[in-house]
Amino acid sequence: MPRRIGDVDNEGTTIVVGGGISGVACARALAGAGRPVRLVDRGRRLGGRMGGRTLHGRVVDLGASYLTAGEGSPFAPVVAGWVERGLARPWTDTFAVAGPGGIERTTTGPVRYGTAGGLRSLVVDLATGLDVQLERTVQAVTPGPRVDGEPAAAVVLAMPDPQADRLVGTPEGAADAGWQPSLSVALGWPDRRWPADLHGVFVHDSPVLEWLADDGDRRGDGAPVLVAHTTPALAAEHLDDPDGAAPAVVAAVRALLGIDADPQWTHVHRWTFAKPAEPRSAPFGLDAGIGRCGDGWSAPSKVESAWRSGDALGRELAGQLPG
Ligand SMILES: Cc1cc2nc3c(=O)[nH]c(=O)nc-3n(C[C@H](O)[C@H](O)[C@H](O)COP(=O)(O)OP(=O)(O)OC[C@H]3O[C@@H](n4cnc5c(N)ncnc54)[C@H](O)[C@@H]3O)c2cc1C
Repeated sequence: MPRRIGDVDNEGTTIVVGGGISGVACARALAGAGRPVRLVDRGRRLGGRMGGRTLHGRVVDLGASYLTAGEGSPFAPVVAGWVERGLARPWTDTFAVAGPGGIERTTTGPVRYGTAGGLRSLVVDLATGLDVQLERTVQAVTPGPRVDGEPAAAVVLAMPDPQADRLVGTPEGAADAGWQPSLSVALGWPDRRWPADLHGVFVHDSPVLEWLADDGDRRGDGAPVLVAHTTPALAAEHLDDPDGAAPAVVAAVRALLGIDADPQWTHVHRWTFAKPAEPRSAPFGLDAGIGRCGDGWSAPSKVESAWRSGDALGRELAGQLPG
């Protein structure tokens, strides 16, 4: 039975709402500085947009595809620790690039890291030892600050702006428009029907696809599973009927890779607020004991930025709160 926030005295405790990587990083920084902190998430598991799902006997990453850690970034030692303990693995630095005529070339960039257990497993690992309350949807954060009426030392909203705005009572609309949706479509075949060195494909000028990842390759088990991410426009058309987008995605993936048969199965996941159109460069927001962090801050928007935003806010709060 999940505990309610009001079951204990929270006055000296910071409540972090949102158990994606930014919220966990924030809670970790507070706990590391000896400040009482509780992490609350509405989901059954931590991870947020680093989430996945077990499909046909194995975990498939349906949110973030991979993570990066810039040289000299404070996130780099965290990632190195995961690699050392076998939780994350360097995946590749090279992807294909496709245009309207198909795959045109490859492009090389930073090393991308994948995981055997799904990216969510890294968030779960980061939360080890924290006071976590799952399956609680916070309804309102009010001045005080208070979380659903209960006082807290400080409150952190570690989530996309439209979700945070709803909690503090900002009228809906403005922030929603600044966040783009996406659909992730997992596609499974009986065997691998694409080149072993494909890794992933950035797709340009397609009305359907933006990105395609080889999930078996990034996870290291070689499973014949691809994950396609749609354009925001296609996702927006199908927000009320995500499964309705599957045929267009199957056709686009088959045409792109020249695959001669439909997949055996597909699974569609909707991300209503997948990414901010214009993430801020400021690392976080903090006003009257209510902080905000996540990938809407610390631009550009990605896992590393979300971690940096949460970690920076946690350190700032730890400095401001009584020890
Ligand atoms: C399809 C897709 C592909 C991506 N690909 C990449 C990639 O390849 N590489 C990369 O680096 N980044 C990628 N990203 C971005 C990356 O996933 C995010 O930047 C990062 O995970 C954001 O973390 P966060 O903690 O800011 O937010 P989130 O992960 O969204 O966490 C917010 C949490 O708040 C919780 N919550 C919301 N409202 C409430 C409430 N009222 N009460 C309680 N809990 C609440 C939610 O359940 C959620 O767990 C991708 C994102 C998507 C959607």
